[in-house]
Amino acid sequence: MVTAAATAGLFTMATLSAVVAFVTWRRQVREQRGRWLTELLRQFSNDRSFKAIRSDLYQEERCQTSALLTRKNELKLSRAADQALTHEEAAFLMRFDNYVGFFELIEHLVAGKQMEVSDASAMFGWYVGQLVENENVRDEVAENFFPVVELARRMGYRHEAAKALGTCNRLIYEAASEASLDAARFYCECGKRTCDKQLGVMLTRYPVVGRVYARRHEPKPGRTAADRA
Ligand SMILES: [Zn+2]
Repeated sequence: MVTAAATAGLFTMATLSAVVAFVTWRRQVREQRGRWLTELLRQFSNDRSFKAIRSDLYQEERCQTSALLTRKNELKLSRAADQALTHEEAAFLMRFDNYVGFFELIEHLVAGKQMEVSDASAMFGWYVGQLVENENVRDEVAENFFPVVELARRMGYRHEAAKALGTCNRLIYEAASEASLDAARFYCECGKRTCDKQLGVMLTRYPVVGRVYARRHEPKPGRTAADRA
């Protein structure tokens, strides 16, 4: 006959082994995640092409990337063939595109909850910051690499994310005007970490408001959203 004490003992043993299994599993998951993140960081750090872009962006206002993006945009407007980018310059911008594409992938992982924002920030936060600080670089990111704007916002670059979202909205306005639409969906420009709100605004209204905020996200009078960051 199984006594009550023995039943309780068996139950405790079963519970205990379940707890041990859980703790072991959790430690393995953590170790695997650690190994995976370390490998990702190692590949990012050792990529020669990425290194060239990183050290260029480090020069801030004097960086080649910024100057080349300005030229690329001027060329788009003027189409002056004699000022076309050289093969090396075009190759440099291609490397920049690949570099920013890497952070699009990081945003994809964060948005899909395969990577924690805190891990992404700890490993790549500084580099994402570089991509939204310089105005020319930020405009390029806003125009062609929107996921990186989202990543910068999630990482807490509120002031820079707000400016980038402003650029996105201006481009949305221009495209919608060209298509003769009455209204378009704009991004809230508060730049808060957790705000991914979009809102419909009449195109006649956009030039008046200038900046778009979801209700209750407007900065207090006399202060911009970025001042409150
Ligand atoms: Zn907002």
